[in-house]
Amino acid sequence: MRLEQTFETASLEARSPFELRLHQGRGMPESVVKQALVNGDMGFLHSFTTGSTVDGPGVRVVGWTAGCQYRCLYCHNPDTWNMMNGLPVTLEQAAQGLRKYRHGLKIMSGGFTLSGGEPLMQDRFAVRLLAAAQEMGIHTALDTNGHLGARLTDEELLKIDLVLLDIKAWDAERHRYLTGKDVAPTLDFARRLAAHKRPVWLRYVFVPGLTDKEEDIAQIAGFAAGLNNVERVDVLPFHQMGRFKWEELGLNYALADVEHPTREAVERACALFRAEGLKAF
Ligand code: SF4
Repeated sequence: MRLEQTFETASLEARSPFELRLHQGRGMPESVVKQALVNGDMGFLHSFTTGSTVDGPGVRVVGWTAGCQYRCLYCHNPDTWNMMNGLPVTLEQAAQGLRKYRHGLKIMSGGFTLSGGEPLMQDRFAVRLLAAAQEMGIHTALDTNGHLGARLTDEELLKIDLVLLDIKAWDAERHRYLTGKDVAPTLDFARRLAAHKRPVWLRYVFVPGLTDKEEDIAQIAGFAAGLNNVERVDVLPFHQMGRFKWEELGLNYALADVEHPTREAVERACALFRAEGLKAF
């Protein structure tokens, strides 16, 4: 199978990441996948979307990678958990797809954000694509849960102009319950980014009854403020837009009865971050 054929017969661009996309990489030989993960010559992408104003500064093109090691109870894109649901795309094809936007992104003070899924599941591809974008003069951002941050060298951190770091919970048990993984590697990555003075926007998903404990949020706020590199905090209200994906995939969705948080509750969470001197929205 030629990779170019794979890409040409399927569309990388989507109207939104909420499109359910499955089995785009089906049939890709395992040896090719393994090689791609080692050298980053190829990646697996759910899609590219344009026009985002919530994934970094200005207007952004977002590359949504496939593959994630977390299993967040509130995940709105569970189709990105499996890397083989992503479309196999060569590095050159992905860079080419981005190149056509470079002038527009500059005019709109925007850039390129690599999100997911978890982009660092494909760390070699992620680093090389972000480096290619930066070489085109495009501002680069990585949206990550930080769990695999140790895969990036110090030099590679410089290819990322901004890290959107998702901290899911402070309490270790709560974090494991919520995501299936430990929080410690994420906090280590946050400290390392701070030591290297790399800009960070912190993201916190606020779920009523799950991530709304004030003491937990206050702990994250104190931690973030002490890092001195967190430029802003986005408190993201839980929503049900991904619910249909859980149903389509036959997954057990534990949050089916959870309501959207009230504006006042989200504002109270923001106030906890502001109390530590952080900008929170
Ligand atoms: S880290 Fe993101 S993509 Fe992965 S399970 Fe959590 S919400 Fe979903």
